[in-house]
Amino acid sequence: MNGLMPDCPKCHQAIDSQTVTCPRCFTVLKAYGHPGIPLHRATGAASLCLTCTYHADDTCTYPQRPYARECTMYHDRTKPTPTTNPMTSSDPLRTLQSWLRKKFP
Ligand code: SF4
Ligand SMILES: [Zn+2]
Repeated sequence: MNGLMPDCPKCHQAIDSQTVTCPRCFTVLKAYGHPGIPLHRATGAASLCLTCTYHADDTCTYPQRPYARECTMYHDRTKPTPTTNPMTSSDPLRTLQSWLRKKFP
């Protein structure tokens, strides 16, 4: 983390690092700027998503998928899956989002 104020990946509104949803466009920002969460970075040419569990099982709801080169939620799909998938855990907004995605793909 570089200590700079993050901005929304969609509308570039400056946002507080604790903010979960962009106040302007309502993009879910959980991947951004949360302290204490490791930020994974792509090292090669390929995006992180291509090797990510949550891309493979289609539970990722981040707008940067499938082109994320930096992501806090990345999980290497060649490694054992965490017992709780944070992408499908009981975050009401996320639950709603994934429901909407299934309903209106
Ligand atoms: S969690 Fe991150 S790396 Fe994984 S698919 Fe979603 S955006 Fe890509
Ligand atoms: Zn925004």
